[in-house]
Order: sequence, then C-alpha cells, then structure tokens
Amino acid sequence: MFKTNIYKDASDKKTKDIFDFAEGYKVFLKNSKIERQAVKEVVKLAKEANFEDLNDVKEIKAGDKLYKVNKNKSVILFVVGNKPITDGLRILGAHIDSPRLDLKAQPLYEDNGFTLLDTHYYGGIKKYQWVTTPLSIIGVIYKKDGTRLEVNIGEDLNDPIFGITDLLVHLSSSQLTKEASKAIEGEDLDITFSSMRNKDKNVKEYILDFLKEKYGIEETDFISAELEVVPAIRPRDYGIDRSMVAGYGHDDKVCAYPSVKAIIDMKDVEYTSCVILTDKEEIGSVGATGAHSQFFENSVAELLIKTNDNNYYSLKKALENSKMLSCDVTGALDPLYSSASDKKNAAFFNYGISFEKYTGARGKSQANDSNAEYISFIRKVMEENNIYYQFAELGKVDKGGGGTIAYILAKYNMDVIDAGVPVLNMHAPMEIIAKADLYEAYLAYKAFLKA
Ligand code: MN
Ligand code: MN
Repeated sequence: MFKTNIYKDASDKKTKDIFDFAEGYKVFLKNSKIERQAVKEVVKLAKEANFEDLNDVKEIKAGDKLYKVNKNKSVILFVVGNKPITDGLRILGAHIDSPRLDLKAQPLYEDNGFTLLDTHYYGGIKKYQWVTTPLSIIGVIYKKDGTRLEVNIGEDLNDPIFGITDLLVHLSSSQLTKEASKAIEGEDLDITFSSMRNKDKNVKEYILDFLKEKYGIEETDFISAELEVVPAIRPRDYGIDRSMVAGYGHDDKVCAYPSVKAIIDMKDVEYTSCVILTDKEEIGSVGATGAHSQFFENSVAELLIKTNDNNYYSLKKALENSKMLSCDVTGALDPLYSSASDKKNAAFFNYGISFEKYTGARGKSQANDSNAEYISFIRKVMEENNIYYQFAELGKVDKGGGGTIAYILAKYNMDVIDAGVPVLNMHAPMEIIAKADLYEAYLAYKAFLKA
C-alpha cells in the first residue's frame, strides 16, 4: 500500500466509493468558499449526525458527540472516548481559510466612469492569476446598529459576477517585459464594481443610492464588514476520466471535509476524537480564530471540567498525551514542472494520503520535524488498515517552502505529523485534486482516530 497507485488494484466497488465520496465533497466545497460558510456547513453535517453544541451540555460522558463554534470562523468537534481524556486525544487539524482578496475597510472609489473596490490580498497568491477571472463577493456586513447582513453575490448562476481587468495585449509591450511578480501589483487588484449613472448623480453617488435602496447599507458600513473576493467557479470533475476535481479552495477544504466525515463515523472510540478546523492558516495562523488561539486549549479544558475534572494538570496531561495529524495539502508532482520536485520524495496523484515529516523552508526553518518513533506508529496504523499512503516533501530543497499548523499544536508536547491530499495549482483560483487521494485521506483519518 506504500507508494502504490490506488487504481492498480482497485475493485469496482472501491472505484465507486471513491467517486461517490467526491460528490459529497464537491457540494461541501461549493458551499464553503470562505471560512464562515465552511463553519456553517460543518455544523450542518455535525447536527445531522446528532452532534450537540458543547455550550448546551452540562456534563459529558463517553460516546457524546459535541461541537463548538469560535466566532463563526473556526469550529471544533469531539467524540468522547471510553478512556479518560487525560489519556490524550486523537486530533485531526485542518484549516478552512483559503487565499483570496479581501475588500479594504474603505474600498469604494470612482475612476473614469467606473466605481471600483479596492482589495488587499490574503495569503500567498500569484497576482497575475487573479485578473480576468470571474469573482464572487461573499461575507458579512455589520451595520452600526449591530444588524447583520449576509452577502453572497456571484455564486448563483443568475447573479452578476465581478472581476479585475487586465491591460489588452495590444498595449502590453512594456507590461510583458516585467517580472511575473511585478506584472500585476497588489495595489492594482481592484474590482470593477459598476458603470451606471443618471442625470443628477455621478457613478459613485448612483451606486451609493443603489446600495442604500437594495441592501440598506451606507458607504461607512464597509468598515465593519468582512467581504471576501473569491473565484466564482464551481467544483467540477476534471479530466476525461473524471478522476480529478477542479475547484477553488481545495487548500484546505480537501482535508477539512474528510476529517469531518471521519469523526462523524466514530462511535465507541477508546481515545476521544477531535477535529479542529482553524482560520487564518494562510496568514500564519494568528488571531483569535487561528491555530495559535487558545480556543483549542480552552475547549479541551471545558471537556475536562464537564467530566468533573477540575485539575489544571489534567489539561496539560490530556494535551501532552495526544496524537495529531495536521491535515493539510501538499504540492503534487506536476508533469509540466517536475524539475521543481525531487521525484524520490514527491507526492503523486492517485497514490493516496501524503505524509510529510517536515515542511518549512531552507534548512527546515519553522518545521515541525516529526519523531521517527511517531512515524513508525503512523506506518503501523496505515499498514494494518490497508491505507494507500506516500511520504513526500513539498519540493526540492531551497526552491521555496511552506508551513502548516503542525508546529503550533506540537508545542503542547504532543506528537504531530502532516498528512493530507496532494494538490496541483496550489493557491491558484482553480486548484486540482485526485478523487482517489481524497477518499484515501478519509480512510486514513478514520483509521487514525481509532488507533
Ligand atoms: Mn494549507
Ligand atoms: Mn495554503
């Protein structure tokens, strides 16, 4: 099962299971372009599986299924095990934010007969990939009286879409001589918003009237809004054999979804299962909803207290005795750019879940370099459960690098290793994954939670 193509020996049933699982994922991905949506979708799936809000539960016992939402942007799920929580948890950690463009606090301006919305990009993007691509605006606006307005424009096929213009090729002779990182500048990633006016009002005044009438919002309401500009494309099968899925935000919904599906399947577990879905990974896991937040720790403390264990040291013990998979994507070997990868240590499509002992950059800087002892445990779990798996690095040494949330939870002295789905076009508006790897991640996550 190690470094073996899944389809080499796949039964018709297995192939069907792989394809069926991807259908559920495509729905999830379509509805989870931003972290707030992902939280809602996860809570919906959890409630359908009889998970209860931890806030509403006074006392917990083995077998209880619980969830807790943090500020509408991250969420944690538990299935309480038969062993005491101090024996440690089995944790799957993924993130639900993806690279995108955020509207600035004061985004609206008029220029040469248009209104435009100014953005600030979020996460690592190749800016040139985001021009002339269909875009949606999704998020929330809180007015000054506290009223909340949900925004989702561009996803429904009857909605208008947005976009960022690019200079026509006929006049691009100087633009095309620039380095790719400079050809499109961050400050030029502005959304074309409107072009109409009337007799009395210019384009900006006209659109402000329009926004007031249609949505009841004023220009200053953008200040207390979180509006995210994301690709308007839908998840679609990719390739003539439909073996892959193209879509926006596979990083990291392609690991979040199988994590949630895995914990939903858990019952009668020995160790308490936990899925933590964090925000802000793409900008360093900072802030109250990122992996660096105390939300995770506080939630485990709440579990303990609700089993009548108030000992502070119990929390430390529970965390230290835990084992975790940091469920995040890795770069797949791209046949067009295979020279960026070390073939011996690269992740391939259709070879199953990909483990990474370390991520980081240069000399493993910022890496959670997983222990050999723990990797041996992981291999045993994979082999015993017939999981197709591979071990990989992101790319060749000194080509660049990346990080995950692995090192953040490792600070509790728990064992952590990265384990996720290989992706092509990572961080592009359209990313690609293999259905077989997604399904194998789900099987691997289930096996891990039970181990
Ligand atoms: Mn990621
Ligand atoms: Mn990423």
